[in-house]
Amino acid sequence: MNQQHTYAVVPNNPDLALAHPAVEECGRRLASFLPEHSTKMVYLINHNPLLAKDAALQLSACGYRVVTLDSMASLAEHLPAVPVNPVLIDAGCRGLDEWMLGEFGKIRTLCQNKPPMVLLSSHAHMELRLKAAHAGIDAFFLKPLDIQALADYLDALSPHQEQAPYRLLLIGNDRQRSAAYADAFHAAGMEVTLILKPLDMFSALGDSRPELVVMDVETPGCGGVDLTALIRQSKTFLDLPIVLLSSQATQQAWRDAIRCGADDLFPRSMAHGELIQAVSVRIERYRALHTLIMRDGLTGLYNHAALQEQAERELTRSMRRGEALTLAMIDLDDFKRINDTYGHPVGDQVLRAAARLLQRRLRNGDVVGRYGGEEFAVLLPVTDASAAARVLDEIRMAFQAIRHKSNDSEFSATFSVGLAQFGKDSRTANAAELFVAADQALYRAKRNGRNRVEIASGDHA
Ligand code: GH3
Ligand code: MG
Ligand code: MG
Repeated sequence: MNQQHTYAVVPNNPDLALAHPAVEECGRRLASFLPEHSTKMVYLINHNPLLAKDAALQLSACGYRVVTLDSMASLAEHLPAVPVNPVLIDAGCRGLDEWMLGEFGKIRTLCQNKPPMVLLSSHAHMELRLKAAHAGIDAFFLKPLDIQALADYLDALSPHQEQAPYRLLLIGNDRQRSAAYADAFHAAGMEVTLILKPLDMFSALGDSRPELVVMDVETPGCGGVDLTALIRQSKTFLDLPIVLLSSQATQQAWRDAIRCGADDLFPRSMAHGELIQAVSVRIERYRALHTLIMRDGLTGLYNHAALQEQAERELTRSMRRGEALTLAMIDLDDFKRINDTYGHPVGDQVLRAAARLLQRRLRNGDVVGRYGGEEFAVLLPVTDASAAARVLDEIRMAFQAIRHKSNDSEFSATFSVGLAQFGKDSRTANAAELFVAADQALYRAKRNGRNRVEIASGDHA
């Protein structure tokens, strides 16, 4: 019997811990696969170690490291470290008693920064919820837990993701003056790539992926206005903000600049502070627009078009540097059946869980996108197919361990992965061939039983 592509239905018992043996097995693996950088910590106060282990396992698949404490008293010992991390309190099966509610109040007064407190309870009666609200509990989740909903809540709670520094490309004509500009942008927290030769422009655009270009109009060899026109010839950079600096910022110079596609032209005499402000506003708008244009509404991942664009960019870069690059195509197994059994909205939840897991478990430099429907694609730069297979296999197991919740039952889902490597030793010559090769490997993974990772033939180490 082929069990690999069936999804397990876990009985809906709130206090049943690790009901499915596959889940327990994955739990052990998961514990050793939690990248520190992408993991946030939450405290869980729970008297039942088995239950705690289960919740910890499920939350770990959402990128949370759970520190389990058996009592309020032990939370007090952690207080110096607590304030930034949410506290989940399992009310147990009987509900909250007066003592526990009193303890919440104490924790609140002891913690200067007031950790967000979440109550997990098997009962939703009004009296309990009111008491909890009076005790300062921020949120209430009914058991059996909808872990994805809890993770959504925790995601929203955690201090907003630290904003990545603005990336700026500076094309200058005078080493000293350009260095001064670069220093000023840098001091304002921006990531600056400075080039002094216009010839380096396209490789710098590809490598540093700037969110704005600042350049001197009076650039030797090729003027800033011409360079702007050159950038605009490429569809990839149609919306990239370009700001020109000139010693003669006349009305005519401004008109020429705008006509060639620049966003603005400023006099070189403009104070650094003002320039930084003007640049920041434009990058902020560029980011907001790009999020709308490039992201998939359901999962927040790169959409198909953005993914293709990123693939071209990553391929060019890996080719130039002679580095390996691996593409992973991921397709949910038997997803039609999940939709048919639990409904489309539950199917959407599963898609979001897969997206969240991929985003959390992969490195910052990896490109994660929704290729279409129930299919995702991941580009892993500087990674050969064998290394990518190890990573994707861990993620595959973590995904399998997630319990998705439907009205009256829980179930798990799986996905299959096809990998193809791009690079000097691989057989693919361009992005299209790379996608075809990964797709063929994915097809093989499906044929060989699903819930597995396959590498395109010839790409094995
Ligand atoms: P296989 O293991 O061979 O991939 O089987 P499958 O059932 O996953 O493959 P199939 O291509 O037959 O079905 C894909 C399903 O994915 C059908 C479609 O309704 C569903 N799907 C595509 N996009 C979405 C979406 O955005 N939300 C939901 N809930 N379902 C979607
Ligand atoms: Mg599919
Ligand atoms: Mg599928």
